[in-house]
Amino acid sequence: MVLDTIQQRISLIEEHIHAACERAGRKREDLSIVAVTKQVSAKRTKEAINAGIKNVGENRPDGLLSKRSEIRDDNVKWHFIGNVQSRKVKDIINEIDVLHSLDRMSIAKEIQKRAEKIVQCFVQVNVSGEESKSGLHPDELLSFIEELSNYDKIRVIGLMTMAPFTKDEDLIRNVFRSLRKLRDEISSKQFGHAPCTQLSMGMSNDYVIAIEEGATHVRIGTALVGTESEGDV
Ligand SMILES: *Cc1c(COP(=O)(O)O)cnc(C)c1O
Repeated sequence: MVLDTIQQRISLIEEHIHAACERAGRKREDLSIVAVTKQVSAKRTKEAINAGIKNVGENRPDGLLSKRSEIRDDNVKWHFIGNVQSRKVKDIINEIDVLHSLDRMSIAKEIQKRAEKIVQCFVQVNVSGEESKSGLHPDELLSFIEELSNYDKIRVIGLMTMAPFTKDEDLIRNVFRSLRKLRDEISSKQFGHAPCTQLSMGMSNDYVIAIEEGATHVRIGTALVGTESEGDV
């Protein structure tokens, strides 16, 4: 199959998603695709939206703000998926629908100060333990989430992680499985501020494994929108 339109790329991804849902006994509608557009223009982001994408993810404040103001579409939900500096929280927090990268109390404090309404957040966990990755150590997770009950602007809807960049599928699967276990532990506590039912995991290379392991949000960039420099869409 020649993937020369975004529509074709989405169709292929949907095929993979349906097959993975079937294998895992899951329903397609329990899963959202977040199209990660950090490497492409607002124009190409619009093409993805026209092809049916309803959730867009960016990892830098500038990219998020410029795309959002250019696109102005009330049907689109905006996801911030990157590491955010405390001093930048005020720029984005009232412009997004979901934050995937809450991993420090300094960010929580800043959200509490700046947000005009409750913010849906994923808490990011560094399951694989790689030094280069952001996120809480799994051992710190429970006390972090307990402490978040002091911040009524924050609702913890789930956990997020990034798998290591490797071809070792068992390793990737174990990371996703561990995040799911952590999610189950937290959600079983039935915290009012942290229902924690969702799992944001899986990118272009590993979203099929993530879905098999329970992802509710897959964050797909290059497989969906390509990169502008490829010139292939
Ligand atoms: C860039 C990015 C993605 C998407 O990566 P692809 O490999 O292009 O699908 C997903 N999640 C985060 C946090 C990212 O920074």
